[in-house]
Amino acid sequence: MLLAVAAIAFPAVAAPAPTIEIALGRPCALAGAANERPEKLIGQRARFDCSIDADDVYGPVTWGLFDGLNVAVKPDHPLLFRHGPHPFQSQRAFARLADGRVIDLGKSVTGGTMALSSAVVSYDLPALGSPVTAVLIREEGMQHQRGIATEAFIISGAAAARIDGQLVLLFAVLAGIVFALLFFNAALYATLRYRFILANCAANAAILLISLTWAGSLLPFMPNLALIDQISVMQFGISVHLAFSVLFMLSFIEREHLHRWAKWIILPPIALGCTAAAMRLVDVQFQWERVDVAFYVGLAAANLAKLYLGIDAMRRGSRAARIFLMFLMVPTLLGLVRLVWGVTSNEPAHIFVAISPTLIMVASALLDSLAVSWRISVLRDERNQAFEMAETDLMTGLYNHRAFAARAMIGDHPKQLVVLDIDRFKAINDNFGHQVGDAVIIQLADLLRATAPADAVVGRLGGDEFAILTRANVSSGVGEAIRHAVAAAAFPQEISVSVSIGTTLASIGSEQQWSDAYGAADGALFQAKRGGRNQVSEVAVAAA
Ligand code: GH3
Ligand code: MG
Repeated sequence: MLLAVAAIAFPAVAAPAPTIEIALGRPCALAGAANERPEKLIGQRARFDCSIDADDVYGPVTWGLFDGLNVAVKPDHPLLFRHGPHPFQSQRAFARLADGRVIDLGKSVTGGTMALSSAVVSYDLPALGSPVTAVLIREEGMQHQRGIATEAFIISGAAAARIDGQLVLLFAVLAGIVFALLFFNAALYATLRYRFILANCAANAAILLISLTWAGSLLPFMPNLALIDQISVMQFGISVHLAFSVLFMLSFIEREHLHRWAKWIILPPIALGCTAAAMRLVDVQFQWERVDVAFYVGLAAANLAKLYLGIDAMRRGSRAARIFLMFLMVPTLLGLVRLVWGVTSNEPAHIFVAISPTLIMVASALLDSLAVSWRISVLRDERNQAFEMAETDLMTGLYNHRAFAARAMIGDHPKQLVVLDIDRFKAINDNFGHQVGDAVIIQLADLLRATAPADAVVGRLGGDEFAILTRANVSSGVGEAIRHAVAAAAFPQEISVSVSIGTTLASIGSEQQWSDAYGAADGALFQAKRGGRNQVSEVAVAAA
């Protein structure tokens, strides 16, 4: 699925026209100077920090300066100045031209370019006949401890429009996938009622919230929602997603293999991350640096705790944990690659890097669905096994009385019911011991299975009493055949074993008919015992 998505987007990205004209790298930064005029500041490079440590420079008002440019903008080839999203209340950009003019490029609050394309802050560069030599941005309420506008670039209008179009398509496809998974799993939960499916649904809903918010999809409904508030909503979504993915894990792994203190190990970091995210949602200004750190610490610790609990359960022999970890590995590795890229590179993002958080979440949603289906199949096998256990007689593996009766009632064709009982079995027990008695019962069960017609139902009704149900037309002589087979068989300790048999023809389609038929066959069996044992007696069911 992801490959298909990649195939849609990749050829367009690799098209010959250059996508990004100039990567601007890290700007020189200046914090404060709130009342300074940009026209003046744009020429005062010396006041800025242009060192590698400039990403530590931020404040209520922060300036970022990209200078030393020489970008000719022609009216028929428009160019845009862009940079990736980070939290700010508002931003204004200015361009200095070679002829000395400083042009106000406008203000950005929401950061979005269009709904369903990834948030990116974008300004048109002026085509006024004089090249652009510097761009200055002035930010209010910046809350980014990793620097101002670190991934800036200049891009042609046509390439920007193409990338935006691809992002819209990509986001629509990815959101569609998650929505379909959410819908399908919700339907699955409605019938199966396993808690891990519900947790999976909630996690997928959180992914939708994160992705759509990040893709600016709240803007059509709230056109003035500041970028910083969109990011707060996203962070809240991320913490909620983490909480539900943990709930998913805890209900996915077999309870008996889970660490005793699992809940208490994972709860504190989750609570920390969720509380921090909720605080940012309520008041984005309050102690923002500490809250920001708390959010990331909570997130990282919760992920580590998740990993630890998974490995711990696997060590305790959990198959579910092994599957869970296997599927967790893909998004974790992708996330690590993204993290390393983010730390080491200052280049503007390739389209797939730009949307990698969404890609990673969608990949994990797809894999979690596989995990869900695996878990359901295991639970189904366990349930089938339990059903089987409830239906079979443990000693012989034949159907028990209840299961035999239930099967006898299937189908409305005429049936023959054969009931047999070992003759003088008490004496065998008394003379040879219970264990030998058991061996006789087991051997007789095998013999009945072998002697009965292929589609016959064979059961042990209790003690030394057995029954066979066959179609009436194929079973003439079944009773005699069994009696002869038993008489001819060699039992342990050369015990001579014989059985008495009662048979009846009947239609058995209800509890009442079963009870009538069984009563008749049992009566016939009693006749056989009375007649001297080791014989077959047949009777018709009165009601049949
Ligand atoms: P009859 O010919 O009249 O059937 O005489 P019987 O001795 O076989 O009498 P009955 O069928 O009433 O006795 C069944 C005996 O089977 C009673 C019980 O001790 C024994 N029995 C029941 N279940 C088991 C079992 O699982 N293992 C063993 N070894 N004996 C069993
Ligand atoms: Mg008996």
